[in-house]
Amino acid sequence: AKYVYSWGAGKADGNGTMKPLLGGKGANLAEMGRIGLPVPAGFTISTEVCTYYYDNKRTYPAALQAQIAAGIGKIEKIMGVTFGDATRFPLLVAVRSGARDSMPGMMDTILNLGLNDETVIALERATQNPRFAWDCYRRFIQMYGDVVLGVQKRAGEDHEPFETVLETYKDETYGNGHLEDNKLTADDLKTIIDRFKALVKERTGKAFPSDPWQQLEGAVSAVFGSWMNDRAIVYRRKYNIPAEWGTAVNVQAMVFGNTGDESGSGVAFTRDPATGEKVFYGEFLLNAQGEDVVAGVRTPEAVAELAKQMPKAYKELDRIRKVLETHFKDMQDFEFTIQDGTVYMLQTRNGKRTGVAAVRIATEMVKEGLIDWKTAVMRVPADQLDQVLAPIFDRVAVKKANVIARGLPAGPGAASGEIYFNADRAVEAAAKDKKVLLVRVETSPEDLRGMIAAEGILTARGGVSSHAALVARQMGKVCVCGAAALHVDYNKRTLTVDGTVYNEGDWLSIDGTAGEVYAGRIETGASEVIQGLVENDAEAKKGRTFKNFVQLMKWCAEGTRMTVRTNADTPEQVRNALAFGAVGIGLTRTEHMFFEGDRIDAMREMILAESLEARQEALAKLLPYQREDFFGIFKELKGYPATIRFLDPPLHEFLPNSGDQQKDLAKKLGIPVEKIQQRVHDLHEFNPMLGFRGCRLGIRYPEITAMQARAVFEAAADANKKGYKAKPEIMIPLVGFKKELDLQVEVVHEVARKVQAERKTTINYSVGTMIEVPRGALTADEIAQTAEFFSFGTNDLTQTTLGMSRDDSGSFLPPYEELEIVKKNPFATIDQTGVGALMRIAVEKGRQTRKDIKLGICGEHGGEPDSVKFCDAIGLDYVSCSPFRVPVARLAAAQAAL
Ligand code: ADP
Ligand code: MG
Ligand code: MG
Repeated sequence: AKYVYSWGAGKADGNGTMKPLLGGKGANLAEMGRIGLPVPAGFTISTEVCTYYYDNKRTYPAALQAQIAAGIGKIEKIMGVTFGDATRFPLLVAVRSGARDSMPGMMDTILNLGLNDETVIALERATQNPRFAWDCYRRFIQMYGDVVLGVQKRAGEDHEPFETVLETYKDETYGNGHLEDNKLTADDLKTIIDRFKALVKERTGKAFPSDPWQQLEGAVSAVFGSWMNDRAIVYRRKYNIPAEWGTAVNVQAMVFGNTGDESGSGVAFTRDPATGEKVFYGEFLLNAQGEDVVAGVRTPEAVAELAKQMPKAYKELDRIRKVLETHFKDMQDFEFTIQDGTVYMLQTRNGKRTGVAAVRIATEMVKEGLIDWKTAVMRVPADQLDQVLAPIFDRVAVKKANVIARGLPAGPGAASGEIYFNADRAVEAAAKDKKVLLVRVETSPEDLRGMIAAEGILTARGGVSSHAALVARQMGKVCVCGAAALHVDYNKRTLTVDGTVYNEGDWLSIDGTAGEVYAGRIETGASEVIQGLVENDAEAKKGRTFKNFVQLMKWCAEGTRMTVRTNADTPEQVRNALAFGAVGIGLTRTEHMFFEGDRIDAMREMILAESLEARQEALAKLLPYQREDFFGIFKELKGYPATIRFLDPPLHEFLPNSGDQQKDLAKKLGIPVEKIQQRVHDLHEFNPMLGFRGCRLGIRYPEITAMQARAVFEAAADANKKGYKAKPEIMIPLVGFKKELDLQVEVVHEVARKVQAERKTTINYSVGTMIEVPRGALTADEIAQTAEFFSFGTNDLTQTTLGMSRDDSGSFLPPYEELEIVKKNPFATIDQTGVGALMRIAVEKGRQTRKDIKLGICGEHGGEPDSVKFCDAIGLDYVSCSPFRVPVARLAAAQAAL
């Protein structure tokens, strides 16, 4: 079998497509060699050997040794040097790890291998450069001693032992000042090398190995061994890289960046990875080997400086930069070394980039003709797209700021404000033009006004699907939730973190993209895209990010099969969502409307009513509010459909629970406070999420359903009259039995008939249901006899399928994720095997009964890329998500279809 793949002199056994076998580094070294870039000759030992190694008690296939020897032979021939040559310039090699996906810094590399007491003299003689020769030897012993021989820091030691020897020598010889390594003379280095060897002897009990072939064997084993080191294992777990992939080992002729001031090493990007700008970006160190750049031994200089210091080398690098992009057709992150003015390429790979850079690079590469638009759409990670929308902290200011706590990044962006602990006080402060951060233990619908008024929301408890997080996403608010280090005292109006007390009105800043909380104020501004799309700001529309974003969204529209709707309760949210390209509402939560202004009073009156008449009287007060709300929404929708969910939450959520509030309400309604207390007591439930809610409310009190239906249809009639073409889709929540839906639909149709007769008009409406309890999914064929559409309410469907309360899961889900009982938080991304199976059943059964049944999703998952892709796979017609998630969903939907 072939285990070794060589490259050099413009030829290669492997190529860039062979990453599984050769690893990313090896495959691209071969590819660069093929296209004539200056890559020092070498060979890759394939990942199959790694697999063999671990399957066979850390031994190698019999044929390997001869193949390695032949590989070295090829390098010798191409480079005109010999491994272990003690008379002329010897071949030295780098032994480099290289997995399929890059695992930066996780595994080991050994440079300058092949040196010993004889070959170093040969090197010195051949180059007439003693400092250089002994510098290489010093580096080699240090790296090999550390990585292969395991001479490393022990418990109780502050520094790496080799570093300690080096620093001690420098102090003895040059005093306590800082001396850069490249200032050491050959004689200094010889002494240090002697001490290094003594250290190795002391720590390992053996002399440093001098035979180059033995050194090579040790290094290869160390690289294969590093695949199973702790760091690598942790990294693989984090990034879902299977252990079976294994690493390859690359053995490559050394080139030297440490021969003097015409030499150096660097890393560079073909474009700026932070902004995406098409500039040559990177850094280098003169007179250094590559590991110095990464290790931070000396501070590197910007690559642009090379233009002055080594103009010829710079020009060559700039040429290579262009070749790389034309060939690999993506932004590249590459490593190079300059030896006596000649440039060598040591690595290239697709560069990691920010969301902002991803959008810019993708769209500009299409313009440049490098890639087509479909590739561009695939290139932008959907979950990073919201970075383009997020308000941003001033880059310099945030570096100086002090992180005081961490929580979940629940609403991306940056916000600074004075802290308030109570919604009303937050609203008051905001009315006085203060910038406000609402800080709560957790939020509830009562806090909504405060949340709207605030720049950002910070909670001590709650996960990604907590109320705070959900509302924050819907409103595009910056939010950090579940920051456990926060201790909020509502009475004293203080926040204590690590013993430091913050009072109401003190400044804090939160980064909802990273989940960080900072002390003090940090300057922020709205993103260009939002200014342009939502605020219609002419200046922003001239901006590059804006234009690129709009272009990307156009391509998404071309590529997609599913459409994207929004979850919105107000005309403003609708406006924002349509600006982002939503084509309708997938979920209006009517109960959110009841919390605005003094509607809550009428709502409470309705709940407290003791007779049908009294209830109808209170409902009559709510009707005009709802009608007005729906009219506003229809108007804003411009003919797009609106799925309107009827009353869903348990009634007790609407009643005040503190004694003072109850007294206030009693006074307002002119009833004894005891009555309110009694009702609160009656409505108390042990398990409210499985209690008196959803369609159960409408079945017990059909007059609520009737009022809501009337509000919808009257608003639709009004809207139609004004030419807005309302398309209401009435959605009955929490249906598990066909009969539940039948009863509610009857009420709706009845009201529709009346309103259409009264208004002498026809209304284009439909009635359907949410699929959010397992029984609903399992009997979807029956339910579809009545339902004209299904919308998957995956928040409740997840909760009911897993039997896991989403509000209480914070205490056990994190360990579940750690133990990989669940791959990801099922409330954030759809549990495809469990919840997803029910969805598939419902889709299939629903279509059996009603071929053209409209299918969508309105759970929070509708804005999460993996879930969106799953929805495409099972054939949903649309996904619906918070207004500010619409671009992410559109991108994910297009990616799923392409
Ligand atoms: P990592 O995967 O950690 O980046 P590499 O194998 O790329 O490890 O090696 C780290 C550094 O060692 C490179 O950036 C480069 O500067 C240097 N290096 C690797 N191979 C050679 C070589 N053949 N000649 C000179 N320097 C090399
Ligand atoms: Mg590298
Ligand atoms: Mg629900």
